[in-house]
Amino acid sequence: MRFLMKFGGTSVADAQCIRRVVDILEQHHRAGDEIAVVVSAQRGVTDLLIEIASSLPTANDDSAIISMIQSLSKRHMTTLEGAAPDYIAETGAIIDERLKSLQNILFAVYNLRELTPRSKDYVISFGERLLAPILGAALRQRGIPSTVLDGCEAGIITTPQHGESTALHESDVRIKSRIGPLIGKEIPVIMGFIGCTKDGILTTLGRSGSDYSASILGAGIDADEIWIWTDVDGIMTCDPRVISDARVMHSLSYLEVMELSYFGAKVMHPRSIEPAMRKNILVRVKNTFNPSHPGTVIVRNGQRDHRVVKALTYIDKVAAININGAQMIGRPGVAKAIFTILADHEVNVMMISQGSSEANISLIVDEAHLSSAVEALGNLMRRGVVREVSHDHKVCAVAVVGAGMAGAPGTGGRIFTALGKAGVNVLMISQGSSEANISFVVSQDDGPRAVRILHDEFRLSEECE
Ligand code: ADP
Ligand code: ASP
Ligand code: MG
Repeated sequence: MRFLMKFGGTSVADAQCIRRVVDILEQHHRAGDEIAVVVSAQRGVTDLLIEIASSLPTANDDSAIISMIQSLSKRHMTTLEGAAPDYIAETGAIIDERLKSLQNILFAVYNLRELTPRSKDYVISFGERLLAPILGAALRQRGIPSTVLDGCEAGIITTPQHGESTALHESDVRIKSRIGPLIGKEIPVIMGFIGCTKDGILTTLGRSGSDYSASILGAGIDADEIWIWTDVDGIMTCDPRVISDARVMHSLSYLEVMELSYFGAKVMHPRSIEPAMRKNILVRVKNTFNPSHPGTVIVRNGQRDHRVVKALTYIDKVAAININGAQMIGRPGVAKAIFTILADHEVNVMMISQGSSEANISLIVDEAHLSSAVEALGNLMRRGVVREVSHDHKVCAVAVVGAGMAGAPGTGGRIFTALGKAGVNVLMISQGSSEANISFVVSQDDGPRAVRILHDEFRLSEECE
């Protein structure tokens, strides 16, 4: 079998974790499987890089840089020593050199007092750059040859949208020609999260982007299966940190996972299904810390069980925007003007609802995009296209997901009756055209309660597949 296996940040958090990852890979390698690996940064490292990079333009001094470099050095060298003791000199030199580059760019950001999207991407790619050579060395330590490549070297070509780039189809051919010859002879290790433009400028694929890298690369090498190794047994009926008795699902469809991840289920990057789906590749989510568990299988037509609702997700980092204006009534092109200007400002609109009077349009956007959205809509107000724009960030969106909802009447009634009985006030409702999701907005305080009510209403903790 040909596999693309991706290991997330918790799976490579220290030397012991890396040895566990190598155990898994060695077992498959010795059994004759062909494997390419995608690896993330160590848990928490990308967050630290984002934090320091964002703080430097306004920092009073540069002392944080050296202490950050020292702590990254200590952490990665300790991991290297425990995971690949024979490669301390060779791989340690690579780590040192990368830390020097990182230090230089951080000083440049501080001195210029400017962090451009391009330099930010460069900085935040260092989590993967520091970790991947350690996994490569750990494989060689076990006698398995391994070349380490960044996403660009592996063939991932992207749009130039820094921080949220999308892979271009031409990546496929490049990946095939670059990874194809290695696979089988060795286990190539590819840094997740990173791509580059046609001109070779480094880009990143968005937070949790290593899942997306895995899917792009899995499609590129025509993998039989893509395995996403993480720290839970599979995709669960809800975020286990919100619902303690959430259950691992055996199987889901591509569509269901897309709906879940789009609405914030942190298990997968929202765009990570598309490349696998394009080539009909089975995706499996598995637990590095419990490898004998079968995990969750994601295929085109997930196993249909009699349950119409399969999973819930909620995302609290959203904001609601209300656009009012009598001018909108019966006037064609207003909605177009709104969505065009939002797109021009790169605002991601997650939900839309328009009252039948047409005098009001409500939107849900990513909280990080709120200020751009307000600025964009302010332009429309000044041009007299809309009259009033207000916003509220103390809201959260809940999505109820299940492919079986399509053509099964009554699910919406059941959802809103259960919420109404419990006194949860619903601020906005939307149903995607796929009919695999019904999403709604409640106040932030009501979010976890709404999810709990629906998890119980649809008996999601109970096994029935
Ligand atoms: P990795 O570092 O392996 O990419 P992440 O932290 O990105 O791991 O994602 C795994 C985490 O996602 C789990 O530990 C879990 O807490 C959280 N999570 C949120 N929603 C779900 C869900 N529906 N199913 C499983 N895990 C979820
Ligand atoms: N390291 C990146 C992040 O933390 C990518 C990933 O982990 O998938 O977002
Ligand atoms: Mg992740």
